[in-house]
Amino acid sequence: MINAHTELYGIIGNPVRHSLSPIIHNGAFRRIGLNAVYLAFEVKDLREAMSGIRELGVRGLSVTIPFKTEILPYLDCIEDVAGKIRAVNTLTVKAGKLVGYNTDCCGALEALEEKTDLRGKKVILLGAGGAARAIGFGLKERGCRVAIFNRSPHRAELLAEELGCEHHPLSSFSEMDGNILINATSVGMHPRDGESPVPKEVLREGMVVMDIVYRPLKTRLLQEAQKQGCLTIDGLEMLARQGAGQLDIWTEGKHEIGRIKEDLRKVLEAETVLKRRDPIVLAHTLADTKTMERC
Ligand code: NDP
Repeated sequence: MINAHTELYGIIGNPVRHSLSPIIHNGAFRRIGLNAVYLAFEVKDLREAMSGIRELGVRGLSVTIPFKTEILPYLDCIEDVAGKIRAVNTLTVKAGKLVGYNTDCCGALEALEEKTDLRGKKVILLGAGGAARAIGFGLKERGCRVAIFNRSPHRAELLAEELGCEHHPLSSFSEMDGNILINATSVGMHPRDGESPVPKEVLREGMVVMDIVYRPLKTRLLQEAQKQGCLTIDGLEMLARQGAGQLDIWTEGKHEIGRIKEDLRKVLEAETVLKRRDPIVLAHTLADTKTMERC
């Protein structure tokens, strides 16, 4: 029950109404019996939003587009990985101090490492945005050889310089030679579900193909990769793990991702059936088993 002791967590971003983080965290709070609630805040002015965090007693925040880097000057302290990536997706308030973390990096790496050994692997990394940056950093730390492919050459060049790796235009399909391919662009994301960032000829049997896009869960890239005999990893794997990483920080415990994945998969599969994308409506729908049966 929400009462005068309920602790407040949330996500700040813009847009934010599509976020699945409230599903992850409210579900977990319920399971562990924490008197806490997690809300979505669509923030226009970051400075205004940050000015109230301490005073209102907010315990923790997820940070999403476009604030992952913009938030850095507001923090008192930044954890090592987040500092190196220069992007924060998690904030905790400890003894009045705002501490920033990045769980995108370990979320993606854990999802990959569950399926394959990364040491010495050549990775085709599609994209040079925030997610590609976090993943690229983790891959380099693991000793992978990384090649970045991005639509905008300048962004690819900047990230490649930072990571000390090669870069190419996204259209250089003939250069895409590696053991692992990761889509960290938004190509294939709803409503452009029919698109894949690469032609199927790039995908070879035995390749590990991870798509971090999670709407839809089975992107065209993953469907084609499966047909070609690749090992596939969907976007839910990273999403669940970055969320579990946030819970670990906030509750100082270890959260297993099984139930988180279950909650997310139900919502994402129901979205596909209902062709609706409002997680709040869907959360109610999921609670209503009769409606689910009709679906
Ligand atoms: P950014 O906006 O920082 O980067 C977007 C990337 O996608 C850039 O590389 C951009 O290329 C590329 N891109 C966008 N549209 C196109 C297009 N039409 N053709 C080719 N390239 C395109 O976003 P993020 O890095 O934060 O997120 C990228 C994707 O990853 C999103 O779909 C997001 O939902 C997903 N994501 C999933 C997570 C998970 O846990 N599963 C976590 C974080 C993100 P350019 O530089 O040329 O603009």
